[in-house]
Amino acid sequence: MGTLQWSEEYDVLVAGSGGGGVTGAYTAAREGLEVLLVEATGKFGGTTAYSGGGGVWFPCNPVLVRAGPPGSFDDTIEDALTYYRAVVGDRTPRDLQETFVRGGAPLIEYLEKDPNIKFVPLPWPDYYGKAPKARLDGQRHIAAKPLKVAAAPELRDAIRGPLDTDRLGAETPPDYYLGGRALIARFLKAIEQYPSASLRRDTALVELVMSDGRVTGAIVETAGQRRAIRTRLGVLLAAGGFEANEELRRAYGVPGVARDTMGGPGSRGLALQAGIAAGAATDLLDQAWWSPGMTHPDGRSAFALWFTGGIFVNQHGNRFVNESRAYDRAGREIIAQLQDGSMSLPYWMIYDDKEGEVPPVKAANVSIVETERYVAAGLWHTADTLEELAAKIGVPGDRLAATVARFNGFAASGVDEDFGRGDEAFDRAFSAGASPLVPIDSPPYHAAQFGLSDLGTKGGLRTDTAARVLDTSGNPIPGLYAAGNTMAAPSGLAYPGGGNPIGTSMLFSHLAALDMRDRRHAAAAL
Ligand SMILES: Cc1cc2nc3c(=O)[nH]c(=O)nc-3n(C[C@H](O)[C@H](O)[C@H](O)COP(=O)(O)OP(=O)(O)OC[C@H]3O[C@@H](n4cnc5c(N)ncnc54)[C@H](O)[C@@H]3O)c2cc1C
Repeated sequence: MGTLQWSEEYDVLVAGSGGGGVTGAYTAAREGLEVLLVEATGKFGGTTAYSGGGGVWFPCNPVLVRAGPPGSFDDTIEDALTYYRAVVGDRTPRDLQETFVRGGAPLIEYLEKDPNIKFVPLPWPDYYGKAPKARLDGQRHIAAKPLKVAAAPELRDAIRGPLDTDRLGAETPPDYYLGGRALIARFLKAIEQYPSASLRRDTALVELVMSDGRVTGAIVETAGQRRAIRTRLGVLLAAGGFEANEELRRAYGVPGVARDTMGGPGSRGLALQAGIAAGAATDLLDQAWWSPGMTHPDGRSAFALWFTGGIFVNQHGNRFVNESRAYDRAGREIIAQLQDGSMSLPYWMIYDDKEGEVPPVKAANVSIVETERYVAAGLWHTADTLEELAAKIGVPGDRLAATVARFNGFAASGVDEDFGRGDEAFDRAFSAGASPLVPIDSPPYHAAQFGLSDLGTKGGLRTDTAARVLDTSGNPIPGLYAAGNTMAAPSGLAYPGGGNPIGTSMLFSHLAALDMRDRRHAAAAL
């Protein structure tokens, strides 16, 4: 670029418009800062907008406290901390863990003061049901209240997703913004109140500008045109993960492939790379939020949960996991077995004909399409006997029959002696408490192909509790902040409960904006 010519100047530049980016830009604007948010793609919302639930794990927040009869709320922040620490352990800094667990409730209190931003309880059991102080009734989880499209019709095609629109070409829903799209729509409406906030799509942050060891701005690129944006206070990287970038996945050793991720197309790691070039330290770069994925006719596996029957078997015809376990835990067990060589991809869901030939998967995240398309793609198979089915999917027939017979015994006794399926609240969360042990005994038998999917990578730039990015000596890089999947996740190697990814992104973006506000006040006071 030769001698740097600043094109524009703001207090704050935010990269990314997922749950974190919009929270950061909103907080900055509400706190009186001049803010520009740039979004690399043509749509706002990132992977956040793909989330059907859009839940956030914020223990003891006011939405939960007032949800039940007065006086009935009995969770405490100390209990939530005990749980979070038990499942995350020492893999991430204690103070970062504590900031996350304590910070959600005040954030919701702050946001609810704005009539545009509303939440509702969304009960969702914690993912390690046997850990101390796990909340089994789901009372740590809320989601954005659905918003009528009529309240913000101009956003209908400006917000990414839902997944069926992007993956299957379905029409964008005409009536309501739901889940992650509702969260994004509500924030975009709220940001409109502040003339000091500007939003720009198709504009990617590609490089950070440094002067005397501090970040003083960034280069952004729109349609090949580079512009230098000067920042008086700082740059917040809330630009998601790099799950859609196959080259970076390989470089950092992330299991699975970009084809099978659920992350948005903008999750390419550009901002992460810019942070590393600015001297940032990184952690957890081989980690993601994992899930089993049902393979669709486009050849991509999609996050799938809520199974009302069926078992998974590997290439040996054996079960290998509690199929109903919280998806990240199931994904981690699959990865461990891929790495020790005891299983390979793909694996299969085996089920009977009680619900017909469509697999008993009630939350496929990408809708299941016509059966013929899966059959034509070689993904679904049917046979009158388990031995014939086994031959079609290349697993030993006697093993498959023995595996199903053993599982049917567990279904009869109600106890899965091999993998404990049904032992934890999450395993039964979608079946109103009913056992997920359903016998496979009504021919014809079916098999559906599965792979390893993810909801995004979670390794990234190391930060302190104010979301300030740390350099390789552990000191903050002045003027640089990161949140969400661009930061090294406080949850480390665990997914403690639904709503951790979006919650982390929102909270640390909010804290980044507050820190920048405080720095401006401190400078003004000098
Ligand atoms: C089906 C599904 C359901 C899920 N459900 C939940 C749930 O209920 N609760 C939960 O907590 N998590 C859930 N997740 C996971 C969660 O959605 C993501 O992990 C989370 O949204 C990531 O948030 P983020 O703000 O870090 O990034 P994103 O939401 O991905 O936003 C990042 C944005 O930055 C943009 N960007 C990237 N690079 C640049 C750049 N250089 N310059 C400018 N912009 C850039 C991207 O295009 C993107 O729009 C779900 C995921 C899926 C797929």
